[in-house]
Amino acid sequence: MHNTISTRHQNLYLEDVALDDIANQFGTPCFVYSKDAIRQNFMAYKEALGDQDHLICYAVKSNSNLAVLQTLADLGAGFDIVSGGELERVLLAGGDASKIVFSGVAKTATDMRRALQVGIHCFNVESETELALLNATAAEQDKVAAVSVRVNPDVDAKTHPYISTGLKENKFGIDINLAPEIYQRAAQMDNISVVGVDCHIGSQITEIKPFIDAMDRLLVLVSELESMGIRLNHIDIGGGLGVRYQNEDTPTVADYMAELLPRLEGRHESLVMEPGRSITANAGVLLMEVQTIKSNGLNNFAIVDAAMNDMLRPALYQAWMDIQPIKHNSSAQEATYDVVGPVCETGDFLGKGRPLAIAEGDRLCLFSAGAYGFVMSSNYNSRPRAPEVMVDGDKTYLIRARETITDLVRGEQLLPTGS
Ligand SMILES: *Cc1c(COP(=O)(O)O)cnc(C)c1O
Repeated sequence: MHNTISTRHQNLYLEDVALDDIANQFGTPCFVYSKDAIRQNFMAYKEALGDQDHLICYAVKSNSNLAVLQTLADLGAGFDIVSGGELERVLLAGGDASKIVFSGVAKTATDMRRALQVGIHCFNVESETELALLNATAAEQDKVAAVSVRVNPDVDAKTHPYISTGLKENKFGIDINLAPEIYQRAAQMDNISVVGVDCHIGSQITEIKPFIDAMDRLLVLVSELESMGIRLNHIDIGGGLGVRYQNEDTPTVADYMAELLPRLEGRHESLVMEPGRSITANAGVLLMEVQTIKSNGLNNFAIVDAAMNDMLRPALYQAWMDIQPIKHNSSAQEATYDVVGPVCETGDFLGKGRPLAIAEGDRLCLFSAGAYGFVMSSNYNSRPRAPEVMVDGDKTYLIRARETITDLVRGEQLLPTGS
């Protein structure tokens, strides 16, 4: 899985760069991404799709660094955005506006205006209110907004409840049974053009079946719409496959497409996909340094300089992420550690019960940190956010500088004295 990570002379390398050299140059904590891994992961989708008419819209929310977006834009990717901020990022990175799909539960009129102005591919509409607002906003500009309705197919993605989004009880999308009515109304609106249907059933899905079940339900809806005289141009199956963090048995994109594509054979609609995690997760790592080792008689703690503000997944989803020393330490004894950050929360851990041969001052690598890592980071405990570095062969590029104290207090104001 970490196919751009290798061990050379008992040192971890990302492509042709020793992670220890990166830590020396940029300090810790530090996110590092492999350009080649991003490319390979994107190309796996392209290749598996073969002759199928398609648009791969990378889910920007999984990693929105400009250089990451630029790498994907250069490969011809489209983008799935969920905010006006993500729209501007894609444009700044050289992404093609006509390949953008705009997801998100409640888009604002301001975001809609801008997206209409730059001419995105389509709005994935999630409610009737949003549809009406979009129609009115497009009318202001004398434009016609291309629309897909995000339906909720009510399938169980069998993933963590916080990232399961396709069940009836979730806030996302429109009940698939109510969709035909909404399509009918949309088709009658002057400034709306109905072009597609979409769903997104969740993230970190490690089985193919839920995706296929969702597609089958979408296809029933598509036929129903056809019989009503509404013909769609595309079907958007949402996010991509789950990835291997530990020992999950994850299907390949080729396995997935081998089951999905026969469903679309002979159909005119193109297939849209919105993969995020599977493009970036295993293309990135988070480097950190052991500050203190301590024991309370029950647990050994390795307190590192990265924390939940840098990588929230373990605290938020009890996610398991691999942690390994970046350099072999022959004088350290193996012990079982809870790897924790310095933030004042008991939930501030990166890994629990990990066998590691480490000493204070050693550097560790947290794997699979390229997706939902930096993008979810915060300044909690007034910790400046970590830098991001891109490796390309034997070259390294700083693609986001470590935040400074000036960055930390940017925009803040003291009250006038004596008030
Ligand atoms: C988060 C999200 C995605 C990306 O999901 P991954 O599991 O990262 O591939 C795609 N589409 C929508 C609407 C999303 O919310």
